[in-house]
Amino acid sequence: MQHSKNIAVVGSGLVGSLLALHFTKAGHRVTVFDRRPDVRTVEFSGRSINLAMSNRGWKALREAGIEEEIRKLAIPLYQRAMHVNSSPVYFQKYGKEGEAIYSISRGVLNRKMIDLAETAGVEFRFEEKVWDVDLSEAKLFTGESEKGEWQEYDFDLIFGADGAFSRVRHKMQRQSRFNYSQDFIDVGYKELRIPANADGSHKLDKNSFHIWPRGKFMLIAMPNLDGSFTCTLFLPFEGEHSFENLTTEKEAENFFSRYFPDIKDEISNLTRDFFRNPTSALVTVKCFPWTYNDKIALVGDAAHAIVPFYGQGMNAGFEDISELSRLESEYGDDWESIFREYQNLRKPNADAIAELSYRNFLEMSSKTADPDFLLRKKIEKHFASKHPEKWKPVYSRVTFSEKPYSEALQIGDQQAAIMDVIMKLPDISEKWDSEEVEQKILAMLE
Ligand SMILES: Cc1cc2nc3c(=O)[nH]c(=O)nc-3n(C[C@H](O)[C@H](O)[C@H](O)COP(=O)(O)OP(=O)(O)OC[C@H]3O[C@@H](n4cnc5c(N)ncnc54)[C@H](O)[C@@H]3O)c2cc1C
Repeated sequence: MQHSKNIAVVGSGLVGSLLALHFTKAGHRVTVFDRRPDVRTVEFSGRSINLAMSNRGWKALREAGIEEEIRKLAIPLYQRAMHVNSSPVYFQKYGKEGEAIYSISRGVLNRKMIDLAETAGVEFRFEEKVWDVDLSEAKLFTGESEKGEWQEYDFDLIFGADGAFSRVRHKMQRQSRFNYSQDFIDVGYKELRIPANADGSHKLDKNSFHIWPRGKFMLIAMPNLDGSFTCTLFLPFEGEHSFENLTTEKEAENFFSRYFPDIKDEISNLTRDFFRNPTSALVTVKCFPWTYNDKIALVGDAAHAIVPFYGQGMNAGFEDISELSRLESEYGDDWESIFREYQNLRKPNADAIAELSYRNFLEMSSKTADPDFLLRKKIEKHFASKHPEKWKPVYSRVTFSEKPYSEALQIGDQQAAIMDVIMKLPDISEKWDSEEVEQKILAMLE
């Protein structure tokens, strides 16, 4: 049995709003603070990215009782559509028949979740920035400016869901033995848009995740419900092909004509949006501990921001909530145990998905055109299709499973070690689908 607590959630992003809904449904009193205006009242800017929701995300939404509502906002993507220059588009199924990731607009999802949380009884205080936290007493201090007058609030518990540059975490960082690291990659991203056809239909297959891989950079596109696609260009900040080198409309136009000729003309206001929309950075944040006594806890990006190349940041944040919920049922009112278990169980998994996401970044940027890499993937796929019970690809373990990320990383490393041996076999490119190779893999899996 739990006693009702007075809880503050700092941040009304995806993780904060779902966490607030969860606690309200569990019988607690919840106030959410956000420094920004209510996302339901602002027009979306060029940063309204869409996200891929997968099994872990759906599980948390199901537990909060809102899965069906949110499914109405999502489009299933069953495959990747690879757009490689000078060859026809080819498709790669994500998983088994019927398995899909789901494209959903971050802005639309966030608005809906705030609506649902508010209806359930959550109090939202927008445009109220948290400047300071008293960790021992669970007090929050908000106000218009750092130097101005502050309002003080008392709570039983405070959750920092305030994103990668969390203020709550910032306060925890001043404690002794608090570990923290942040790593920016040298690639940034920019949003562009492909509008719908005149009849409202999509210009590309709407049930595919579209990728234009180009070695050190790539373009992706995911569908929206209104027939448009949101595109994201991932490009190094500096170097030969880089944001730094695209400074005029002519340069941007030439770059797209050369590398994305099949889609360039469909991107609306390409050169205007290219210079108007912001170029954003990508960061991995790691820290520990995630909690302070039985009063303060970090969730979502505030605890573990990752690069987006596995499509798991939000999913991992939602999984934090599933785990907290499970621990509440186990430990009742004992928040000290809930927090201790929460951080000990989640931290290895957060580190694992950070590592997998970073590796995917390296893989996408440097290996997609490497023949050895493509052969390796072909062998793995062939073997997995013959022995699905023995070889589940890491992508499926991360995306279509709810088993721990750390397990996916560990099994992925074992599979990689096996493939290292297979790739060294003489004439492997000729006998990649032979009985000999199959038997060798089976023997190594014993
Ligand atoms: C390009 C890109 C693509 C991505 N694709 C995917 C994907 O396909 N699938 C996936 O699962 N994830 C994806 N992600 C990751 C996902 O967007 C994040 O993991 C997720 O949005 C984190 O949610 P959050 O609520 O923890 O933090 P945020 O969304 O950052 O929300 C934090 C909130 O806290 C508020 N705040 C901050 N400081 C204060 C303060 N001092 N006082 C009050 N309020 C404050 C902010 O205003 C904000 O509303 C992607 C990320 C990027 C950048």
